[in-house]
Amino acid sequence: MRKYILEIAIGVVPVTLVFLAFLGVNIVPVLLIAFLAAGFAFAYKGRGKMTAMQGARKKSELTSSPLSFEQIGGQERAKTELIEALDFLVRHEEIKKLGIRPMKGILLTGPPGTGKTLMAKAAAHYTDSIYLAASGSEFVEMYVGVGAGRIRDLFKEARQKAKKADKSSAVIFIDEIDVIGGKRDGGQHREYDQTLNQLLTEMDGIHSDESPRILLIAATNRKEMLDSALLRPGRFDRHIGVELPDKKGRLHILKLHAANKPLNPEVDLERIASESFGFSGAQLESVMNEGAIYAMRDNSELIHEQHLASAIDKVMMGEKTDREATKEERERVALHELGHAIAAELVRPGSVSQVALSPRGQALGYVRHNPQQDKYLYTKDFLDGQIIIALGGAAAEEMFYGGRSTGSRGDFDQAMNIVRTLVESGLTELGIIDANMMTPDSWAKVNRSILDELMAKTKLMLEEKRQVFVEALDVVIREETIGGDDFRALLGKLSKTA
Ligand code: ATP
Repeated sequence: MRKYILEIAIGVVPVTLVFLAFLGVNIVPVLLIAFLAAGFAFAYKGRGKMTAMQGARKKSELTSSPLSFEQIGGQERAKTELIEALDFLVRHEEIKKLGIRPMKGILLTGPPGTGKTLMAKAAAHYTDSIYLAASGSEFVEMYVGVGAGRIRDLFKEARQKAKKADKSSAVIFIDEIDVIGGKRDGGQHREYDQTLNQLLTEMDGIHSDESPRILLIAATNRKEMLDSALLRPGRFDRHIGVELPDKKGRLHILKLHAANKPLNPEVDLERIASESFGFSGAQLESVMNEGAIYAMRDNSELIHEQHLASAIDKVMMGEKTDREATKEERERVALHELGHAIAAELVRPGSVSQVALSPRGQALGYVRHNPQQDKYLYTKDFLDGQIIIALGGAAAEEMFYGGRSTGSRGDFDQAMNIVRTLVESGLTELGIIDANMMTPDSWAKVNRSILDELMAKTKLMLEEKRQVFVEALDVVIREETIGGDDFRALLGKLSKTA
């Protein structure tokens, strides 16, 4: 009914006004009143939007259960550093006596999904503070001044909420700070500059004897992008790196996320931890979750190791697809994957953890490798070995078909990235050079010379195992996935008979 009233009014009012004007009645005051009313209505609607935004934040704050540092896996160094910094807030009386200025901002840096948000929440819990979160992108608006206004509101809200909850401190967490805290270029992005200026002003307004005390925690994975004004002493002067977890950390995170799941007691989480090298905390959480989903699909009451292994594949490569490949294609893919897997076992015995012929994500087949231990330093021999494993697929195709296919594109990208690392680390015959000074031509030359040499070596190695390829092909096509141990047993058996 309300809709109709509005429509009738829209139709009737202008006609009446035109009619009155036609009769000579002065309708200017009526128009003025109408404009004023419309202005008020618009402002009221805008306020509604603003409170809705704050409402969303209110909700996230209320729903976040108190999270302690014990619930964050790995990250021992980052946690210790953060707790040390937070003690400044907790022991503020002592700090005031010694004349130490208050800690205003802590910057958490590191790759996505490593637990930066969790750290900020745990910091609020540890210091018994109110927790307010926002993301840098929330402050970006087309209109100059809106972002700055939101920053002001955020600080105001933190102070009000802390007072209301009778807390002596508040933790404000700004994720993706690089969106508003990028280097100012003077003029181009005035809105961004104003927002950043407002943030700096608010930070300068934090005093040690203020109550409630405010601590700003920000997160970014692009620290080098930040304006130096943000990083100077007195602003974000504590930088804590939250890096990808090592094997011990991964095990810890897996155990935390396994706590509420029915895991088969036989599951070796340590093995899952070593197979998930390079995974972030968020990816590990996803492995446990996807593992549980696979168990449900199998109507299994317990989560078995195989479910978790499939979950690792899914997180790494994407969901299985039902792309139908022709027999010839399947054979080519099988030989290609065997090329990678046999090369891997020759270069690093015991390293293959799974050979699969089922299409996943973009790949038609794949070999999952199992790093025996986390590595952070690589020798030239090790990197050469990595290139040989990457080229194994194309080498096998050449051996059996006399040519390659488009299936090796990703492998070559990987090989060329390793060549880049070799060049940048001074591990090639070019010696120690500045890679930025290299022309595309010289890159092409160095790529060709290294890759051609290693391709020849790979082919020689694999040629010796030609018979193994022929015999293993049937098994791979029949079984579709072969675990690392079974694959090694098969290799051992075939190598003896070959
Ligand atoms: P982004 O930079 O993308 O915002 P982030 O570093 O803030 O990521 P979080 O939001 O803290 O990452 O983590 C996402 C999810 O991943 C968490 O909710 C949690 O389930 C899981 N997670 C990440 N790191 C850990 C960890 N160290 N311990 C336990 N769980 C973790």
